[in-house]
Amino acid sequence: MQENGRLLSNVLSKVKLQAKPGVSTLQLAEMAHEEIKAVGAESAFLGYRGFPGVICISLNEEVVHGIPSATRIMRQGDLVKIDIGIKRKGFYADMAETVYLGEEVPPETTRLLVTTKNALAAGIRNCIAGETLGKISQSIQQAIETENLSVVKRFVGHGIGKSLHEKPPVPNFGPSTGGPRLEIGMVLAIEPIATFGSPEIAIKQDGWTAITVDGAISAHFEHTVAVTSQGPVILTSTCHAG
Ligand code: MG
Repeated sequence: MQENGRLLSNVLSKVKLQAKPGVSTLQLAEMAHEEIKAVGAESAFLGYRGFPGVICISLNEEVVHGIPSATRIMRQGDLVKIDIGIKRKGFYADMAETVYLGEEVPPETTRLLVTTKNALAAGIRNCIAGETLGKISQSIQQAIETENLSVVKRFVGHGIGKSLHEKPPVPNFGPSTGGPRLEIGMVLAIEPIATFGSPEIAIKQDGWTAITVDGAISAHFEHTVAVTSQGPVILTSTCHAG
């Protein structure tokens, strides 16, 4: 899973550099597919419960599960959420990042991005064997709400391994006492989603794409993280110490 995570991290780094104004989300997904195949992996999302895309690309007020489309052209000023899952040698890895298209990021967008990233980091720090999973949830919620942003509660992180989505669910909110105790060897996909104002979401007519009801932009960051005797290890990272 560590090898898969490293490969996925490399794939996502390449894909996000190709997210540019004038490129369709389908073109970006096709580039991603080439990169996924090049590392000997396959898309974990394509066909998953009928999902029609290779990866998820969600723009601006779209929260998650955006379907790549030839007619959806990315523009300057778009906030692009790229979520990629791969399967290789029987094991899964899952990762997401949010990128802004443009040189000058609006201050409020920066605040949203930094806060969501910090929330992910806080969650990861709490991937400690013997502690409750709720500590992850609470730390994420705190990081987001102290910045007066909202946690999108409809979607949660998850265990990951031989399946894309395994137990336990990893909510981005809730009391520190909630959930099971973490054990060495558990691997979790931790994925906070934050927005401004209302956290209410709706699903578009395509049956997949989640959008904020009030049209506010949202951010999503995700890592696949292992609980080890040495503490948390981010598997979806380009460098691993040993
Ligand atoms: Mg995930």
